[in-house]
Amino acid sequence: MTKGNISVQTENIFPIIKQFLYSDQEIFLRELVSNAVDATSKIQTLSRKGVFEDELGDVTIEIILDKEAKTLTIRDKGVGMSESEVNKYLNQVAFSSAQDFLEKYKNESSIIGHFGLGFYSAFMVADRVEVVTQSHKRKERTVKWTCEGDPKYTLEKVDKRDRGSDIILHISDDATEYLEESRIQELLDKYCKFLPVEIKFGTKTEKVYKDEEDKEGTDVVSDNIVNNPNPLWKKAANKIKEEDYKSFYNELYPYSQPPMFWIHLNIDYPFNLTGVLYFPKISNSMEVQKNKIQLYSNQVYVTDEVKEIVPEFLTLLHGVIDSPDIPLNVSRSYLQSDQNVKKITSYITKKVAEKLNNLFKKKRESYEEKWKDLSVFVKYGMVSEEKFYDKAVKFALLENVDGKLFTIEEFREKIKAEQTDKYDKQVFLYCNHKEEQASYVKAAKDKGYDVLVMDNIIDNHFMQQLEQKLDKVTFVRVDSDIISNLVQKDETIESVLSEKETEKVLNIFKEKVAVDANKFEMKALSPDEPPVVITKPEFMRRMTEMQRMQGMDSNMMPEMYNVIINSNHVLISDKLNKMRNEEKKSDFAQYLYQLALLNQGMLKGEGLSSFVEKSIEFLK
Ligand code: ADP
Ligand code: MG
Repeated sequence: MTKGNISVQTENIFPIIKQFLYSDQEIFLRELVSNAVDATSKIQTLSRKGVFEDELGDVTIEIILDKEAKTLTIRDKGVGMSESEVNKYLNQVAFSSAQDFLEKYKNESSIIGHFGLGFYSAFMVADRVEVVTQSHKRKERTVKWTCEGDPKYTLEKVDKRDRGSDIILHISDDATEYLEESRIQELLDKYCKFLPVEIKFGTKTEKVYKDEEDKEGTDVVSDNIVNNPNPLWKKAANKIKEEDYKSFYNELYPYSQPPMFWIHLNIDYPFNLTGVLYFPKISNSMEVQKNKIQLYSNQVYVTDEVKEIVPEFLTLLHGVIDSPDIPLNVSRSYLQSDQNVKKITSYITKKVAEKLNNLFKKKRESYEEKWKDLSVFVKYGMVSEEKFYDKAVKFALLENVDGKLFTIEEFREKIKAEQTDKYDKQVFLYCNHKEEQASYVKAAKDKGYDVLVMDNIIDNHFMQQLEQKLDKVTFVRVDSDIISNLVQKDETIESVLSEKETEKVLNIFKEKVAVDANKFEMKALSPDEPPVVITKPEFMRRMTEMQRMQGMDSNMMPEMYNVIINSNHVLISDKLNKMRNEEKKSDFAQYLYQLALLNQGMLKGEGLSSFVEKSIEFLK
């Protein structure tokens, strides 16, 4: 037996390993199983190349739990190690890499994936680790390495066993959760689900029924294989059927609605990346589950926090990205500046845009059907990613109140003649609440205008973005003050009232109607327009909405609105104008004003009840 010290130059790193990122303790299993997979891949390669000539045999990796002995064993039938290899790889390589790793990241809590602690991560959960290993070179002896979580180790020759290694963890008293079958199963599901070599963890029992008569069934016991060594994203896209994509989605996210469509990613230059990204049904809300993309490195699960790798709007997608080229032992801030990561990000963005563009061009109808679920995603992308905007501006759709969909270009073309204002701007009229703004929508439609529906939480940002990007386009809500600019573009309607009469009427409103409105204004509108109209300054309204979105108290700013009195409406020009009784006159003005408020959904409380009382009075 040999005894030795792992390192002479530094003090004990084991206490540090033990407490290293306590929450990430569980990665020890991934590290050890990955090593087993590596050892297995190596022997498979040697065999394929004819360097290793013996029978390869079954190479299933086994995870063995022994509660009584308090051990967890990871067993592989891989290359194994000779005595000198154990010395080199465990005592020097593994140790020094673990040490490097800790030196670098002692104070870094946001390292992605925490790769690289490798073999020594075993000491986070075990107070003794034994490695029993037989090299694939038959002349080598089987050796057993033992270490008790300090720099001392022993290395001895033991009875010959089959090729491969057992890593035996004597689980420490403060980590007994790793002696629970369910916990280990959970970790295997999380980290090892798609590792490329079959992994067995105990057995499973299934009832098998011979035929319909057979009510009892028979228990059939079989190996419990925890992983799928050939995940879909590793296969060639042309060999995969639609059903396969759907069932893989189900495998990743059991019990969720089927995805709308997907993109298969596969590139090997200038970086290596494979994966499948799914478009989930998002619908009209932002309560989307983010962090549903899983990042793998050579089929080893790394993390589901991918926001440094995919642009934020793409985190709405689901699926898998596998890339050995994403540096994993680094902090998140470093990752953002990494050149490879930048390329990967723009590659993914490009692919997503291409996919949508294709769908739009080739299957417009089905694209339109999906638009409700897609729109949040596309708009979010356009608002947040310049590059995506440039592509998406061709396939982003606008919906009008009749449920028809247009591209931005199509819509501009459609409204060009009717909805260009005196400043030569195209006015995109919209409502954000079809029911509440129904009368304004109707008024606009009656004039031959088209009205869009912009009722998504992202739409405020989206419209602003379009106004900035598109030449001479402005969005105006149907109840906005600006709409009258549009109305009176080329027809100046003569007022039927004289200047003197106008002033008199205006004064009744100004003096007798108790209002906190911004301003009163007499306008000669068409006689078909309502007698009194309330409009809201577009700019102020937007400010308030923005503040509300940012979680600020919007009550800080009083709501501002304008009251426009239509001098050409009979109730103004004829009725009000000709009334003699001053009291009746101001009552009437008040009533018309309240009617306009009602139309805007702004008549509430006392105002509303007095309005109702007055109405009943009139009807009598
Ligand atoms: P890494 O896997 O990054 O090389 P590790 O600390 O995980 O670092 O492992 C160190 C080395 O120990 C490996 O490179 C490998 O040579 C050897 N090793 C670890 N586990 C096994 C195993 N199960 N079979 C054969 N060799 C192993
Ligand atoms: Mg390793």
